[in-house]
Parts: sequence; C-alpha cells; structure tokens
Amino acid sequence: MAAEVVILGGGVGGTIVANLVAKETHRRAHVTLVDATGIHVYQPGFLYVAIGLEQPAALQRPESQLLRPDVSLVVDRATRVDPAARRVLLESGRTLRYDQLVVATGSRTVLEEVPGALGAHDFYTMAGATRLYKALQEFERGTIVIGVAGIPYKCPPAPVEFAFLLDDYLRARGIREKTQVKLLSPLNRAFTIEATSKLVQPILAERGIELTGFFNVESVDPVAKTVTSMEGETVEYDLLVLVPPHRGQMVIETSRLGDERGWVPVDKNTLKHTEFEHVWAIGDATNIPISKSGSVAHYEATIAAAEIVAEVKGESPPAHVYDGKVMCFLETGQGQATTIRFDYTHPPVSPKPARRWHWAKAVFNKTYWHTVPQGRLP
Ligand SMILES: Cc1cc2nc3c(=O)[nH]c(=O)nc-3n(C[C@H](O)[C@H](O)[C@H](O)COP(=O)(O)OP(=O)(O)OC[C@H]3O[C@@H](n4cnc5c(N)ncnc54)[C@H](O)[C@@H]3O)c2cc1C
Repeated sequence: MAAEVVILGGGVGGTIVANLVAKETHRRAHVTLVDATGIHVYQPGFLYVAIGLEQPAALQRPESQLLRPDVSLVVDRATRVDPAARRVLLESGRTLRYDQLVVATGSRTVLEEVPGALGAHDFYTMAGATRLYKALQEFERGTIVIGVAGIPYKCPPAPVEFAFLLDDYLRARGIREKTQVKLLSPLNRAFTIEATSKLVQPILAERGIELTGFFNVESVDPVAKTVTSMEGETVEYDLLVLVPPHRGQMVIETSRLGDERGWVPVDKNTLKHTEFEHVWAIGDATNIPISKSGSVAHYEATIAAAEIVAEVKGESPPAHVYDGKVMCFLETGQGQATTIRFDYTHPPVSPKPARRWHWAKAVFNKTYWHTVPQGRLP
C-alpha cells in the first residue's frame, strides 16, 4: 500500500517537497498537499508592488498549476494536527491520515500586537503592499519612517531594501528633497547580518536615509503620529511603514506542535520535529534561528523530501543534511544589488553592490515560476 505523505502549506517549501517526493517515490507514496487558499504567492515581489514596479496579479498562480499531476491538492485549512493518531483535521471537517507529515505553513503577521499600530502601512502582505503604494502615490512631502515591530521577521534585509527602493521612487517622482526617510533598526546596525550591514550603511548615508539603531517598536500613537521604542525613544512620522510582528500559524498553536510563538521545534540538520515522530517542518514555520527566507525554505525542502523518500523506500537516511545554507539578494537602489551567502559554518559574505546582482534578482523573480516550485534548481 502506498505511504500517505501529507504536506501542510503550498508556499515555496511545501510545493517543492510535494513535487520531489511524488517524483522520486514513483507512486510508492500518495502525496497530498493541503493549502488554505489554493493560490501560490511569490512574496518577495511585495517590495515592488509597494512602489508600483509590479502588479499583484503577476505574483500569484493557482497552486494546481505548480504541482505534478500525481500530487493531490486539497484546498482547505488545517485546524489541528494529532501526532499521536497521525491525523490532520481540516476546517471543512475532513480528516487526513498520514504516515509522514511536513509542516510548511509559513508565518503570519500580527500587527494588532503593537498598540496603536493597526493603521500603519506594511509591505508584508499583498493587501499591505497595495495599500502602501496608494499612500505613496498621494504622498507629497514629509517624513516616512520604516520600523521593525518584532524579531524574527521574514527576509531580514527587506526593510533596508525597501528604504533603498523608496529612495529611488521618491527621486523618480522629484519629491526626494521634500521628504525625510528614516530607518529604525532594532539592532545597533542596519539589520541582523553584520558584514552586510557594514557594506550598506555608508550607502544609506550617501542616499540621505537616516538610520537609528536600538529602536524596537513598542507602540504607535496614530493621532500624534509618533512611534515609540522599548528603549524609550519617540520619532514623529507623516507616513509609517512597519514590519509587523510574526508568529507561526494558528494550527501550530492549537495543536501544541510549537513554542509559545507558534514556531515548530526541529533538528536544525534533519528538520525532524524534536518531539513527534513522522513530523518534519521546513521554511518559515520552524524555530531554527536562521533567516526566514524563500531560499532557506527551498534548501530545507530538498532535504526533507530526500529523507521522506528514503523512509518510503525503506532505505537508510541520506547522508546529506541541511547545512544552514542561505542565499539572498539585497537591492541597494539605483539599479544595483548585492547578495548574502552563508551557512552554519561559514559567516555571511556580500560582494560590492553591482548592476549584475540587480539583474540576477530580476531574472530570478521572473523565472521563479518555472524552476523553483518544481524543484528544478539544486
Ligand atoms: C516583502 C518580502 C520580501 C521577501 N524577499 C525575499 C527574498 O528576496 N528572498 C528570499 O529568499 N525570501 C524572501 N522573502 C521571504 C519568503 O517569501 C518566505 O520566507 C517564504 O515564502 C517562506 O516559504 P514557506 O514555504 O515557509 O511559507 P510560505 O511561502 O509563506 O507558504 C505558506 C503556505 O501555507 C499556507 N497555509 C498557512 N496556514 C495554513 C493552514 N492552517 N492550512 C493549510 N495551509 C496553510 C499558506 O496559504 C501558504 O500558501 C520575502 C518575504 C517578504 C514578505
């Protein structure tokens, strides 16, 4: 009888696992992917939607178009996992039994956790990025503040990238001289990665983007238009853009599969749940202290898939484990970008920003649909 492999979440990580397991097990596994919306969203594009360089429709495709025909897609929301009975309960009332389960449900943003912040702008959801672009189009002069309301958040360099792209946008509209752009970082540098922060900080200064360190957003006063940090500093704004706090999905919390913020504890090499047998987690859903990024979800997906294929075939586990590999692009504006590469044993390195990295990111953004979800890239 075919093994039942159930994957929760049809984002980048879940889709790759589903396609690879179905391909490599040759029908010795029946692969089911459960996704809450049935729509696959390419989130890195939100940055460009927020400044009018991309259309929302270009960032979404039906998940069914990205899965192999031998993967069963169930469009439903997982509401509870029972690891003892190896069952998943869905919102519709349907129950799925599994032999192997992969949790790839990503994260959710919870702006409501920050007092006063609900009206603030963000580029972490499609709706947020679309609304932000509308506000920017109406913006003529004043102070735009970009702040971070909680760590961890997806794509650590994204607020810095947004600051650079915003600078380009304001220059193109001819209103840069009437605008102040302030970037508030929770750390003593631009973002988590020290080497890349050192590289981009002089460029931020060159572009007139004011960086304030040790500013962990605690609350917002939407009437006075001020944002206050846990450190006790207050900054005035005309337009506020916040990176919202992130949590794991509700299903993790209600099933007690994760910690108090809903992150799933896994072995950082094998991606197996530290407590429950037959459960893996990958991508943003895990508690691994590494960038929550599409590249991590991608690399982890290939590892989890290989382990599940070995289990299904009754073979010994693959020798290759997840080594903490991360690879990201960081737009530095004016048509240039850099990259960030590291793993558990090699510290981050970033080359001098250049046009070719900007073009490499643009090409990746466009070719994503034909390569990554299918697991065609290594
Ligand atoms: C503005 C921005 C810029 C970014 N830039 C980059 C970048 O340049 N490079 C990079 O590598 N990464 C980037 N990222 C991060 C990247 O998009 C995420 O890290 C990546 O999508 C995580 O993949 P995932 O598969 O873990 O989760 P996701 O892609 O978020 O997918 C999760 C899926 O689970 C589904 N789901 C959730 N709950 C349930 C449930 N209960 N039942 C069923 N289905 C459920 C959702 O519908 C979704 O389809 C960026 C993100 C943002 C927001």
